[in-house]
Amino acid sequence: MSGITCKFGGTSLADAACMRDVERIIRSNSERRFVVPSAPGKRNPADKKITDLLYAWHNVARQGLDASEPANIIRTRFEQLAQELGVKFDVSKPLTEIAANVDRYPEPDYMASRGEYLNGMLLAELLKATFVDPAEFIKFDDEGNFDPASYALLGARLNGPGVFVIPGFYGSLPDGRVKTFSRGGSDVTGAIVARATKSDLYENWTDVSGFLQADPRIVPNPAGIAEVTYRELRELSYMGASVLHDEAIFPVREPGIPINIRNTKEPSHPGTMIVSTRKAAGPVCGIAGRKGFTMINIEKALMNKERGFGRRVLSALEDNGISFEHMPTGIDTISLIVKDEEIANHGPAVLRAIERACQPDRVTLAPGIALIATVGEGMSHRVGVAARLFTAMAEAGINLRVINQGSSEINIIVGVEESDFEKAVRAIYHAFAN
Ligand code: ASP
Repeated sequence: MSGITCKFGGTSLADAACMRDVERIIRSNSERRFVVPSAPGKRNPADKKITDLLYAWHNVARQGLDASEPANIIRTRFEQLAQELGVKFDVSKPLTEIAANVDRYPEPDYMASRGEYLNGMLLAELLKATFVDPAEFIKFDDEGNFDPASYALLGARLNGPGVFVIPGFYGSLPDGRVKTFSRGGSDVTGAIVARATKSDLYENWTDVSGFLQADPRIVPNPAGIAEVTYRELRELSYMGASVLHDEAIFPVREPGIPINIRNTKEPSHPGTMIVSTRKAAGPVCGIAGRKGFTMINIEKALMNKERGFGRRVLSALEDNGISFEHMPTGIDTISLIVKDEEIANHGPAVLRAIERACQPDRVTLAPGIALIATVGEGMSHRVGVAARLFTAMAEAGINLRVINQGSSEINIIVGVEESDFEKAVRAIYHAFAN
């Protein structure tokens, strides 16, 4: 099989005019045969997302309260869409079934998935396409992990002529119950469909024209990223650049199916291509970062000679249910960088556990750290990248609290005071903008 898998996000399907744009995009290229829709998103900032309303409906109904408000908004929204698009889609029947099952399961997955389900049926009607329910073909195991056997199942079902619509966001467990991916998970469905159909390309249509080299709320008008590798994108999205669900890369990375991030409102823009390898345009392709980290600083004389010290430190964290992000070390010091939400109010308990397990000279918490990743495959084996970065930071008068470069040499992570975060991102961007 070949062709193009195209996933459309909620804002691209928010109203009838958006749906018409989507229809035009699909019809303008006969290769676009596998269509994965999200549930309708917000039409304006004050609007409600259908998925959020479904979660609310489930919650209210499970508590035995009157859920007619979210239910009615959902009904009206789909009726209006069908009417404005002039398609034969009677939402009453599926909605009656959904209402009958609203409080059947303690978990919200079935209800949450119904936005994609209904929107998929509507879109299939509009496109005169074949509707394929992913509950039958995208499978999870008993532990809730995606089952790779789904690729063959889905591939066999989608092997035929015409256009197929496969709703995003969900599949099913071995006992038949619906299970969703985490929020934003239609991106993952798109990647699974692209792999199952051996698509030449996975187009992910959204409301931005690809990735930017830095956060536009921090750097005014940053340049776009034309091409980025899967590895670079992992680093960028881990640090906060969020356009694509971070699990959406894995299904397509192995077979090397490129992902193209495109904008339904600007369909002539080429967007960003996510590929296996690229010709580096410069050493750095993007800068991402976020606030909200705490450093645990541990000092002990002759630590480097003490066997098992690192293991004991990490056990203290593990015992408190905390995972760490980075572990920069010195001769007699180890620092652990953890997300604030991980350490939450366990700080004193962690310090005591480290004291007990390691008898350090000193152990302290330093909250208020921001991390910034400067990412690019082009920086590996290239002399002078770090010098440029650190010079930019020095010239901006920013004190570096942490420096970390992974052995993959595709990023340099620096930690700064949260109050220096924006200034640091701008300084790095201007040092590398190309
Ligand atoms: N509708 C789901 C959500 O809001 C999934 C998605 O849009 O990708 O999270």
